[in-house]
Amino acid sequence: MSAPSDIYDAIVLGAGAAGMMCAAVAGQGGVRVALIDHGDTPGRKILISGGGRCNFTNLGTAPDRFISSNPHFAKSALGRYTPQDFLALVERYGIAWHEKTLGQLFCDGSAKQIVAMLASECEEANVTLVLGQSIGAIEHRDGRFHVAVGARTLSAPALVLATGGPSIPKIGASGFAYDVARRFGLAVVEPRPALVPFTLGPDEALFRSLSGVATEVTARAGKAAFREAALFTHRGLSGPAMLQVSSYWRHRDPISVDFAPDAEDGWLLAAKRTRPRATLRSALGATLPDRLAEALAERIGVAGILADQSDKVLKAAQERLARWSFVPSGTEGYAKAEVTVGGIATAGLSSRTMEAARVPGLYVIGEAVDVTGWLGGYNFQWAWASGWAAGGAIAARGA
Ligand SMILES: Cc1cc2nc3c(=O)[nH]c(=O)nc-3n(C[C@H](O)[C@H](O)[C@H](O)COP(=O)(O)OP(=O)(O)OC[C@H]3O[C@@H](n4cnc5c(N)ncnc54)[C@H](O)[C@@H]3O)c2cc1C
Repeated sequence: MSAPSDIYDAIVLGAGAAGMMCAAVAGQGGVRVALIDHGDTPGRKILISGGGRCNFTNLGTAPDRFISSNPHFAKSALGRYTPQDFLALVERYGIAWHEKTLGQLFCDGSAKQIVAMLASECEEANVTLVLGQSIGAIEHRDGRFHVAVGARTLSAPALVLATGGPSIPKIGASGFAYDVARRFGLAVVEPRPALVPFTLGPDEALFRSLSGVATEVTARAGKAAFREAALFTHRGLSGPAMLQVSSYWRHRDPISVDFAPDAEDGWLLAAKRTRPRATLRSALGATLPDRLAEALAERIGVAGILADQSDKVLKAAQERLARWSFVPSGTEGYAKAEVTVGGIATAGLSSRTMEAARVPGLYVIGEAVDVTGWLGGYNFQWAWASGWAAGGAIAARGA
């Protein structure tokens, strides 16, 4: 039996990006909301995001920048709560921001401002914040959810799963939402670490010797292609291009890298005519960092000056540089992944409200859902939009 003070209209599990947005919107709609997190502070991923400046949205937000078993699912929420809506909130709080590149909006100051803004929105909405408490048994009876939190049991007719995915467990991330969802009969699409650096096996030792080198490439995994920077690390490959393709990568699939994305067709044959005494290494050095040019030339095995090479050899070298293929040994896993692809299957959820069709009153939002954005502010935009959709629907149900 819950004490009267533990009776709410909605309980939101997870005070992260989506949970705070949902709680604020529902509370501002007039319902009593409890927002619970096992961490001592809300929004911990927001605090470490975007290098501490939080890339809070992307102006290019469109459904095709999200990975999901159902590519249509995110359309409704993303269409109703847009980057401009979040930006209007940011501006209302006087938070200075800038566009970095590719539509990515960052705080000029600190990600702390975004957490403070959401906390203030929750406070204005009279949301009860319960922090540092682990969540125990969750029961559903008589049309209400009963959630054991520490020594108390809170109850409400609406329960929101907003505990995110398992990426970065050391700051409290967990697969909790998947376990709860399964218990309520919802399917979970196999989760995998995403936006994560690749590791390389012994065959690619060449790359490991290049630790610290960065260059612009086009990286491909299956049909996905991203033209951004790649960074060689002591363990493998990182940088935006590699993180992006990692979300599409499956174990044992090859990754293909174009090291000369701006080069025109036949550029090496043209170099043979214009700079016949150049070597492959020096020709590559015109556009690539020195150490990388040296390593690639060595691996391709074209020694001597270009004038001494047959056109066939140079064509093959050019082809290899445009489609450098390798199979990563794996990824750095959840410990280093910015997000998780997969998650609670959208098939069981309403795309308008995020409510589970077979469990009325149960909502799932944010990264816990099988919707994953590209790198660049898309994941927060999904958290805001799905949180807003569920919060609005809960407010519309009323107290
Ligand atoms: C290093 C890093 C940088 C990132 N940078 C960006 C960026 O700049 N832009 C962008 O768009 N995305 C970025 N992301 C991704 C983004 O942070 C997430 O997609 C987003 O936070 C997901 O929101 P969410 O509310 O679903 O989950 P979260 O924000 O992860 O919130 C989940 C909350 O649930 C709580 N929780 C988890 N398990 C339990 C449990 N068992 N009991 C109680 N509480 C629990 C957690 O403590 C957490 O507070 C970054 C991620 C990382 C790791």
